Amino acid sequence: MNIILLGPPGAGKGTQARRLVEDRGMVQLSTGDMLRAARSSGTEMGRRVAAIMDAGELVTDEIVIGLIEEQLQTSRGGGFIFDGFPRTLGQADALGDLLAANGAMLDAVIEMQVDDAALVARIVARSTCGDCGEVYNDQTKPIPADGRCTNCGGATFNRRADDNADALTTRLMEYYKKTSPLLGYYYAKGDLVSVDGLGEIETVAGAIAEALAARS
Ligand code: ADP
Ligand code: ZN
Repeated sequence: MNIILLGPPGAGKGTQARRLVEDRGMVQLSTGDMLRAARSSGTEMGRRVAAIMDAGELVTDEIVIGLIEEQLQTSRGGGFIFDGFPRTLGQADALGDLLAANGAMLDAVIEMQVDDAALVARIVARSTCGDCGEVYNDQTKPIPADGRCTNCGGATFNRRADDNADALTTRLMEYYKKTSPLLGYYYAKGDLVSVDGLGEIETVAGAIAEALAARS
């Protein structure tokens, strides 16, 4: 199965993608993670996109489509989860073409619905494990008292440079202007399934599992 997780920043796409990887052996393709990796490894592309990302704007279609194309050629597994991609109509068209060229198709686009006030609250409270990427939240899933990641035992935790109120406003605006039209695009294609992303991680995971079962 190949699926897209679609929703505004902070909707919980990354968290649910990690669940799907664990439970089903799917392969997570997160353009945000790929871009952050490119930054920390100091590549030319990483340097080019750093300021754009920190401001909360979208990097060019060309760059992210290139990243996805590369991954589609090298990764194998129980299907792909596209997390944070596509974010524009141009990216959506390109993904359709790339999948078709690989003899594959999209099985479902899962929209994770979360209201805007909840997004802001979630994002400013967010941190991730520096070793494994496990996501923590000051309110709902705090870093354990012993300072060790529950998943891997790591002891470094990071806050993203773009998880601040200013960049977040831009990220939300980019989402509404450029990404939210994809909801109509995939609805018209008959691929869209919407789930309530506001509940507990387990509840949302259950809703996604149900949605996928109904489509397979
Ligand atoms: P979010 O929590 O907002 O979903 P991501 O980790 O997916 O964040 O992405 C972080 C940043 O990386 C975005 O704000 C944007 O600058 C860049 N980015 C990630 N994916 C894309 C994409 N598909 N197209 C353009 N820019 C992207
Ligand atoms: Zn960890």
